[in-house]
Amino acid sequence: MHPDTPSARFGPVTVYFGEKSGKYPDGNQVIVHGGDTVVAFDTPKVANRLGAAVFDDAIDMVVLGHVHEDHMCGLHRLPHAPVHVHERDVEAARSWEGLRQHFGYPAPALDAFRTKLDTEFTYAPRPDAISYKDGAAWDLGGGVRVRAVHLPGHTAGHCALVVEPAGIAFIGDIDLSTFGPYYGDATSNLGDFRRTLARLPELDATVWITSHHKGVYTERAAFEDALRAYTARLDEREAGLIERLRAAPASLDELAAGGFLYPAGFPSPSAKAIERRSISQHLDELVAAGRVVAPQGSNLYAWAD
Ligand SMILES: [Zn+2]
Repeated sequence: MHPDTPSARFGPVTVYFGEKSGKYPDGNQVIVHGGDTVVAFDTPKVANRLGAAVFDDAIDMVVLGHVHEDHMCGLHRLPHAPVHVHERDVEAARSWEGLRQHFGYPAPALDAFRTKLDTEFTYAPRPDAISYKDGAAWDLGGGVRVRAVHLPGHTAGHCALVVEPAGIAFIGDIDLSTFGPYYGDATSNLGDFRRTLARLPELDATVWITSHHKGVYTERAAFEDALRAYTARLDEREAGLIERLRAAPASLDELAAGGFLYPAGFPSPSAKAIERRSISQHLDELVAAGRVVAPQGSNLYAWAD
């Protein structure tokens, strides 16, 4: 292991923390040691700082909790290891075309993003990725099991990976960050994310590991506090939109001009598309609830008084 990579051990699970507790673009690497099989959950950037003694041939199998560029960075070092992905995300792991549809940004943003994937994320698609379904379980020997629990929203196939019987849950990009939930891609879904957040406390776990930012929770009360604050970001975003629309009707383009998720001028070619996708899902909810009037004869959304 790289001497600068901090780690923590929870029974059969070792977590290698990325830079700044795995803040994007880095992440936290989880490795599970069963009696006869060693599994990596995702392969964030930090994986590329791990030595061959704990990575490369030491990994028998990969289970991806979901597909995004920052969770695939170490796959290029594991060509021998089968890669398992939930059926709703598997095409995104198999090819660049699949990943393009998964993100769903306009073509120029995707083309710019592809360059970033190659230069900063050691991107390696896996045409051989194997699909799994909700409830899939892998027996790692020695009484250690991994179970996938489908918790969509961030992506359509996002899953928690629970190590049993230890009760250690890798909850991926339900990352409990101060940024809040991310649902800005084509296959993301705000309604699904809301249901996922409501179900998360039901996971049979005593340790919760996130991909980014917070890292590890070992106290249920602290985990649930963080989950409440994270969930509240949805209400704060909705309240911001309502305030804008109460002041004056606005088009989706105007609402997405910056500041909803990212500061105006945020240096990402896909930021605009992500803002639009995220805001439009809140607008759909507000229209369905009769609180906002959808554009009629113009492109303006209006507050329904
Ligand atoms: Zn993600």
